Amino acid sequence: MMDQARRDAVLSLTRKLVAQRSESGREDGAAAVLREYLTAEGFDEVRTDGYGNVVGVLRGSRPGPRLLFDGHLDTVPVRSAAAWTHDPYAGELADGKLYGRGTSDMKGAVAAYAVAAACFARDTNRDFAGELYVDGVVHEERFEGVASRSVSEAVRPDVVVIGEASGCNVKIGQRGRAEVVVETFGVPAHSANPEKGVNAVYAMCAVIEALRRLPCPEHPVLGRGILELTDIQSSPYPGASVVPARCRATWDRRLLPGETRESVLAPIRALLARLEAEAGVRAQVSFAVGEERCYTGETIRGERFFPGWLYSEDEPFVQSVLASLRAAGQSPRVTHYSFCTNGSHYAGEAGIRTLGFGPSHENLAHTDDEYVEEAELYRACEGDQAIMRALLPQA
Ligand SMILES: [Zn+2]
Repeated sequence: MMDQARRDAVLSLTRKLVAQRSESGREDGAAAVLREYLTAEGFDEVRTDGYGNVVGVLRGSRPGPRLLFDGHLDTVPVRSAAAWTHDPYAGELADGKLYGRGTSDMKGAVAAYAVAAACFARDTNRDFAGELYVDGVVHEERFEGVASRSVSEAVRPDVVVIGEASGCNVKIGQRGRAEVVVETFGVPAHSANPEKGVNAVYAMCAVIEALRRLPCPEHPVLGRGILELTDIQSSPYPGASVVPARCRATWDRRLLPGETRESVLAPIRALLARLEAEAGVRAQVSFAVGEERCYTGETIRGERFFPGWLYSEDEPFVQSVLASLRAAGQSPRVTHYSFCTNGSHYAGEAGIRTLGFGPSHENLAHTDDEYVEEAELYRACEGDQAIMRALLPQA
């Protein structure tokens, strides 16, 4: 059981992080809070990289595995403060719930593992094998795993624990996601004489109908690989008396483990080739490319392709984490995330053993009156320490 001082430390760090508004690209205040805490707790090194990710390390007394606890410092915006009954940045506590933007997603989780790391170092007197890293990553909300690539290169972790909300259950996988963009090309003409042009929107209609009939792969555990139209825009827009010469539409594609850029695009390219041969449709497909500014001034960019991943419950690292959590009095279920996380990079791109464990419930993320239960914060902090005991060998 955690004593009161340790509980207070988790609560206070969560509140300080919540008080720093930190939409993607504006995480500097939250990063400073995390840096300050890790430095005060005697971490051996606390670094901030070019994107603004914060990484702290506690080194054990001898060489061993590198364990990384990963979480993001950015949050989605507060759409309307009037829709909240609590101040989104005040960290108000009521009926055992701590309210605020980012409490569940996921400043509470970051505070829980940062405090857990400090407790683990103190309790073991640093007499453990390996290195314990904790981070606070930027730009996760729109770029799952992209900023994590630079953490991953610097740390080269053997195992990663994603702190995203799991209800203190153990998550061993997730579907990934990609944004698929199709553009169709026509010939502009005055709409008084449409026969002189080729309407790119009509071409897109044919593409949409064909894509709706395209079968998506299925996975026995993670479910369907969705392909759902999410937006469409003709060009010029708005169009006045003109047959549109271009049309662009985006699909959300949920990815299953093992799916690659090529395997996702190949059936769509084949379909477009068929439409061109049969109906003269001119179109091309690609993944959306995103580009955003970091608070450091650096630019982050990447294709919106974030792979899925799944480990077996029988993996030794999963089994030893489960045993240690049970020994600590917890009863975690083994499940998978229904949303996309930085695990897309660690497990999906880099092949690093990854699992998820964190406080709170995924349906509280991005909501008005977002909160985290106080008891979940403490349970996560205790569970994080149990995971550290499981994966960093002690004498
Ligand atoms: Zn999150």
